[in-house]
Amino acid sequence: MIDAGTVREAFRELFGGGEPRLFRAPGRVNLIGEHTDYNGGFVLPMAIERGTTVAAAPREDRRVRAHSVNLGSTAEFDLDRPGRPRRGVWFDYVEGVAQALVRRGARLRGADLVVESDVPAGAGLSSSAALEVSTGMALAAVSGASVERVELALAGQEAEHTYVGTMCGIMDQLTSACGREGHALLIDCRSLETTAIPLDTTETVVVVCDTRVKHELASSAYNERRADCERGVELLRHVLPAVTALRDVSVEDLQRYGGCLPEIIRRRCRHVVTENARTLRAAGALRAGCMEEMGRLMWQSHESLRDDYEVSCAELDALVEIAAGVEGVAGARMTGGGFGGSTVNLVSRRALREFGSTITTEFTKLFGHAPVVYVSEAGGGAKEVMNAE
Ligand code: ADP
Ligand code: MG
Repeated sequence: MIDAGTVREAFRELFGGGEPRLFRAPGRVNLIGEHTDYNGGFVLPMAIERGTTVAAAPREDRRVRAHSVNLGSTAEFDLDRPGRPRRGVWFDYVEGVAQALVRRGARLRGADLVVESDVPAGAGLSSSAALEVSTGMALAAVSGASVERVELALAGQEAEHTYVGTMCGIMDQLTSACGREGHALLIDCRSLETTAIPLDTTETVVVVCDTRVKHELASSAYNERRADCERGVELLRHVLPAVTALRDVSVEDLQRYGGCLPEIIRRRCRHVVTENARTLRAAGALRAGCMEEMGRLMWQSHESLRDDYEVSCAELDALVEIAAGVEGVAGARMTGGGFGGSTVNLVSRRALREFGSTITTEFTKLFGHAPVVYVSEAGGGAKEVMNAE
């Protein structure tokens, strides 16, 4: 965990002046419900303990100066003269969230910001949402603007859509903004309603394994899958006119009418429809403390993502297969968009050491480099960090 003192110190060194206020927003891992968010469906992520910390103080003018300790880079922009979007630079996320907040009616002041994160970038733990939500919360707070958490999450998503150019769903930002310690969040991505579900980790813990690869295919395939889902909805509407998103299609509907879809579209739809059903069952399993059932649903989710949605890759499949061979692993699946990134695993505490060493040895044998293994409890959502913390 980042020491609040070091961020504060970096702030003083760079910007001098008075005492900054500190804010922190977490990364997240999705337990189940993959590629369902942009179909209006359900996801079941949890905030992790790692997060992005921001030291912030308001300025008298309309400029925002932002420094990333991780990148050793300082940037500056003007709230009244928005820069060109999609420059492919890290502060696209910061300026993007600032502009989205302004567009939503928040009266922002200029500010100095120092950002430091222990969420690894690009590992599928959503360092980008942690950056948007932490800086968004900081900018609003030092401006004296009150912004609801859901609104903050939406502003973060808008930053990705408009400034960064990633057409992500709402899961990452909503989890970062609304996470609850010791709980997973069942999110209805249509209504944006979140339900906190206790996650009992006395015996079984959540472990993330990062393949440390990201294949080129990721963003083009993401857009293709979204288009496949839209095509599926369009075709299904001929027989089910009330359907506006795959969320409205049941497993039985698809069994009955799937025949009217081209083969590839049918498989894409089958993944989303069955994944939605699995996610709701998984929420029930977690609530009942039944990790075995939760694990079963995770294995099934992986198979569906691999075979029907076709967004897995050799590295992710290998991690899941190796995990399946370790005694004490209740479930494992790829998490995040796919084509690299991480897997999420449910591992019995007594098997943790064996799990870590087997995964590392076997994966390294296959791919020539070790994965990174993280254990995380469910952390809390974005908040102001008080001096004593
Ligand atoms: P993920 O969200 O899965 O970690 P993304 O590609 O969506 O991966 O976001 C990673 C990008 O977010 C980085 O390349 C960088 O531009 C930005 N970012 C995240 N954290 C920081 C940080 N602490 N400082 C500067 N930029 C950051
Ligand atoms: Mg991201």
